[in-house]
Amino acid sequence: MKLTYSPLTTAAVIAAAFTFSSCNDSKSALTTEASTATEAAASAANAVATTETASASAGPSAPDPASIPANRIADAATITARPQVPILCYHQIRDWRPRDSKGAKDYIVPVEQFKKQIQMLADSGYHTILPDQLYAYLATGAPLPPKPIMLTFDDTDLDQFTVARPELEKHGFKAVYFVMTVSLGRPRYMSKAQVKQLSDEGNVIGSHTWDHHNVKKYQGEDWVTQIEKPTKTLEEITGKDIKYFAYPFGLWNPEAIPQLKQRGMVAAFVLAEKRDPQDPLYTIRRIIASGYWSPRTLHNSLVNSF
Ligand SMILES: [Zn+2]
Repeated sequence: MKLTYSPLTTAAVIAAAFTFSSCNDSKSALTTEASTATEAAASAANAVATTETASASAGPSAPDPASIPANRIADAATITARPQVPILCYHQIRDWRPRDSKGAKDYIVPVEQFKKQIQMLADSGYHTILPDQLYAYLATGAPLPPKPIMLTFDDTDLDQFTVARPELEKHGFKAVYFVMTVSLGRPRYMSKAQVKQLSDEGNVIGSHTWDHHNVKKYQGEDWVTQIEKPTKTLEEITGKDIKYFAYPFGLWNPEAIPQLKQRGMVAAFVLAEKRDPQDPLYTIRRIIASGYWSPRTLHNSLVNSF
């Protein structure tokens, strides 16, 4: 299967690379533990509120993963057994064009469809959380707000800033933007200033490599080109540590994980396939919110996939 990357055809390439398999490896855990998580949420909100400095709409914050002692981090089996937090992955938010392929439309969510999806999340009582909160929950069992969800946006598309950002703002939602640095400032992609603004506004910027090459093929200097330098670039832009990574195409292998750890990543995100039992924090699952999905279909997918 061809995975050569061209920025203008991201959606089509990814569409070709994946089928949507829904993975239910911890569904039973979700059912049994969901009430515990919900009960804990109220006290969590109170506990964290006292040290909270971010805007109230961001919800409770969480400790920097680096500040969590190693002996407080749960083993892989414990992490895997915790109910998964639903995580959505978006790419382009724009109306379909005649030349968009059938497959690409999974990765292109029309503006009105996007608004309805986000409205559904708000109406259903979902609270967006950010990666440090997710990390504290998975690693230490820290409580989360009720109905937590994480929204992620890959590939640096400009419409994420111009269309998605104001829509999320209406509901007080925050999100994670996984940026590939080669695109910064190009037409139809975000600028460095826009990425900084997203960060300043309380969203999280993560790394999505330099130019979207498949991590499974990296050798030697590729780790510098694809991970180290882009991380430094994003840290210079945001003035913050870059700690989270999304694998291009969701593709990873066990060899990549120590490389990411060495380079400061504390967690990494795949797509809908199963997590790695040894390293669940480096294979956190997301599902792509399809452009075909009505709010009801999105809701069903959230319930069934996590
Ligand atoms: Zn991507």
